Amino acid sequence: MKSISVFQLNDGSKIPAIGFGVFQIPNDGATYDAVLNALEVGYRHIDTAVAYFNEEEVGKAIKDSGIPRNEIWVTSKMWLQDYDYVDAKQAIERSLTKLGLEYIDLYLLHQPYGKLAEAWKAMVEAKAAGKIRSIGVSNMTPKIWTKWQQQGLFDDVLPSVNQVEYNPYFQQKELRQLMADNQVTLEAWGPLGQGNSELFSEPLLQSIAAKYDKNVGKVILRFEHQEGMIIFPKSVRKERMQSNLDIFDFQLTSDEMDGIRGLDRGQGRHNPDAPGVQEMLLQAFDVHKNE
Ligand code: NDP
Repeated sequence: MKSISVFQLNDGSKIPAIGFGVFQIPNDGATYDAVLNALEVGYRHIDTAVAYFNEEEVGKAIKDSGIPRNEIWVTSKMWLQDYDYVDAKQAIERSLTKLGLEYIDLYLLHQPYGKLAEAWKAMVEAKAAGKIRSIGVSNMTPKIWTKWQQQGLFDDVLPSVNQVEYNPYFQQKELRQLMADNQVTLEAWGPLGQGNSELFSEPLLQSIAAKYDKNVGKVILRFEHQEGMIIFPKSVRKERMQSNLDIFDFQLTSDEMDGIRGLDRGQGRHNPDAPGVQEMLLQAFDVHKNE
């Protein structure tokens, strides 16, 4: 099996630079099949969340794969509803139980609203107790990060990652500089633009793909990898899983990198700074609806 490159986080952990995302894969057996296939083709990093409702299937697939636990990196995320301190502690325990794991490699605060300080305290304690190895945040824009940093949220323990929307149309230039200054690694969600057909039709990406005899998906992911992003493309199709992982046998030139940097439009599909996002998200995902 080919080795996957790893990035070192600010707490010393080494995370596989490419993983497999399971957002929107149903929990009717499809997540189990997808994760088992992903592990079979060589992924060793799975990105799930409480709000994806599929942690149990992720955990079962990991167990049934027979791959030693310490060879797989597992990320999950706490949902907004659970940010009260006591709820947050319970949410971590619930994720551990659903995943069937003794520890989670990386746990994130999925959305940057509400009682972040209480949730972060529970995360810091779970890390100290060895239940979580690394902790981080998600969807923090420069404005949100700066607000919380000024309030001292990260004075004791700095997040290891900030997981945000990122693709060639939305390259997060300001945030990348801010995170680099703070030694926080960026993770890219939606690294394929969530399958955006306009992105896949970009003439520049198509011509680079033709030059290397690769598909456009590989060119996008290779660009992001060379930019230092941690990526976890999602696919339910095994041949795409394989293709998306197989990006380590070619290298884009600096001119090609500059060309793709030029595709940036400076905005994405989701704007965490917009008014009403917290309420919209709480309405869209109720992680306690079946209790
Ligand atoms: P992606 O950018 O990974 O795109 C997935 C889409 O692209 C699917 O429709 C898939 O279809 C298609 N696709 C996959 N590979 C290819 C390919 N080689 N060529 C053409 N189309 C392809 O979107 P996601 O939203 O899934 O993002 C990835 C992960 O990021 C998520 O699964 C999740 O883990 C995380 N995430 C985190 C968020 C956060 O708030 N922190 C928000 C959103 C995502 P098909 O399955 O049919 O192949």
